[in-house]
Amino acid sequence: MTDHASCSTVLSAPKIAIIGGGLTGLLTATLLECASNQTGSSSNTPQITIFEKSRSVGRLATRYRSDSETGKNWQWSFGAQFFTAKTAVFQQFIAPWLDTGLLQPWCAEVIELTASSDNYQSPNIQSKEQWDVVHARYISTPKMTSWGRELAAALKHTTIVFKTRVAPLAQYLQSQHQIQNQTHNQTFNQNSKQTELFDETGASLGWFDWVICTAPNGQAIELMSDSGFAQQDKITKPQMQACYTLMLGWDDVQKLPETLNGQLAPQWDVAYLNSAVLDRIFIEHQKPARDELLPSVTIHARNDWSETHVDDDIESVKEQLLQAAKQALNWNEASAPSQTDCHRWRYAATIVNKDTEELGILIDETKQWIVSGDWCAKGNIESSYRMAQQTVKAVMQTQ
Ligand SMILES: Cc1cc2nc3c(=O)[nH]c(=O)nc-3n(C[C@H](O)[C@H](O)[C@H](O)COP(=O)(O)OP(=O)(O)OC[C@H]3O[C@@H](n4cnc5c(N)ncnc54)[C@H](O)[C@@H]3O)c2cc1C
Repeated sequence: MTDHASCSTVLSAPKIAIIGGGLTGLLTATLLECASNQTGSSSNTPQITIFEKSRSVGRLATRYRSDSETGKNWQWSFGAQFFTAKTAVFQQFIAPWLDTGLLQPWCAEVIELTASSDNYQSPNIQSKEQWDVVHARYISTPKMTSWGRELAAALKHTTIVFKTRVAPLAQYLQSQHQIQNQTHNQTFNQNSKQTELFDETGASLGWFDWVICTAPNGQAIELMSDSGFAQQDKITKPQMQACYTLMLGWDDVQKLPETLNGQLAPQWDVAYLNSAVLDRIFIEHQKPARDELLPSVTIHARNDWSETHVDDDIESVKEQLLQAAKQALNWNEASAPSQTDCHRWRYAATIVNKDTEELGILIDETKQWIVSGDWCAKGNIESSYRMAQQTVKAVMQTQ
């Protein structure tokens, strides 16, 4: 791990719970461990527990499917496609994984695509730009999840508990207050500043000096509501929008429509769409270190369209997206995809208002609770790193 600015202060052995094992949670644990390593004393080593309700690492998501005949895979990064590293400190942080090749720049050819108004004409394709190594977009290889898994595996003083949903903090504050009269128990202990967390079945997950919530905005609102969190009013400020993702696969490159096989236009990797429904198309099998894949294409719908349709039946959404994709990519019966799948992200993107100040992490110093996540900044992976830095600074200031 590189030596960077956020590793420069000292910790003294707190018990820390992190709710959420997405990149914000993993980066927070990584930077906390990094900070404690600098003390050189094992008595100061924080005991970190990450509670993650699913079985994998957050919105960095990869889906794959195997062809039973060839054994080859289709693969779709159906959450984040890539990330940027605009600051020197984040560039320095990712450098070790760039050296090993786990992270790689994606120098994609980007086009702008406007579908034809009838179904039989080719779309209008205009070359837009090539992403370069100076303003690089990075991907994780061989899968988008690989970096998250690597970060998790490198953690030495952190336990990750998957398939465990932390219950809203208020639920047990209230029930414990009732019991308190009889037993003097309480969920938040004012004197020691410790908090007891519970899972959704009511089982105790332990007592912690710090609770750091990294759930997406909507879930953070539920987790913290009525808990007495000092910054509750601010959690509702950022708005998050949904995103539907369409995943398409073809059995062979020969079966791709002309729009994808390089015959109609120069080979491209990413398309920005002029469409009321679709936002971007990403060609997965042309990314670095994805040569072995069967032709796989991921399409993100527009956030505003997705938000309007967020509670619709997923099959009907899939049909509408397939229709829009067919129009954009102009496939016929012979060149139609053999694999189709659709995923709904209820909390996908933070609406960023350039005129308003960034929220930053929300801290309740009395309770030692922090609410963090990519949505506290610009809603991307680089924001996750910055929010992790802010969290580590806040925790260390009290040590
Ligand atoms: C469709 C899509 C496209 C995107 N594209 C890009 C992109 O191109 N570039 C980019 O930089 N970023 C992109 N992003 C954003 C990027 O994925 C996130 O910024 C990044 O993954 C970090 O997220 P996070 O850790 O803050 O949140 P998450 O990854 O959502 O992690 C939070 C975790 O908290 C868990 N959780 C929630 N409630 C509880 C609970 N009660 N108990 C236990 N666990 C809980 C969730 O299961 C989740 O795993 C995209 C996201 C989506 C959905």
